Amino acid sequence: MKCLICKHGETHPGLAVVTLQRDERTLVIKGVPAEICENCGEYYLSDEVAERLYAQAEQSLQRGAEVEIGHFAMSGA
Ligand SMILES: [Zn+2]
Repeated sequence: MKCLICKHGETHPGLAVVTLQRDERTLVIKGVPAEICENCGEYYLSDEVAERLYAQAEQSLQRGAEVEIGHFAMSGA
C-alpha cells in the first residue's frame, strides 16, 4: 500500500521496532510484523498484531520497569 505519512513510499512486509511510552516508562518491542514504508520508515500494524502488541505491552508495564526491551510474541502471553 501507499504510505499515509509521506505519501511517496510503498510499504513492504517486515519487522518493526515499536516504542511505547506511558508516564515515565518506555517499552521497546522488537520483531513486530508490520508493513514498513520504504521511504520514511513508518510502520503499519494489522489489527490483530496491534491488539496482541498492546496486550503484551500492558503486561510489561505492570511489571513496572522504567525501560524494558522485549520481543513480540504472536501467541501465548
Ligand atoms: Zn512513508
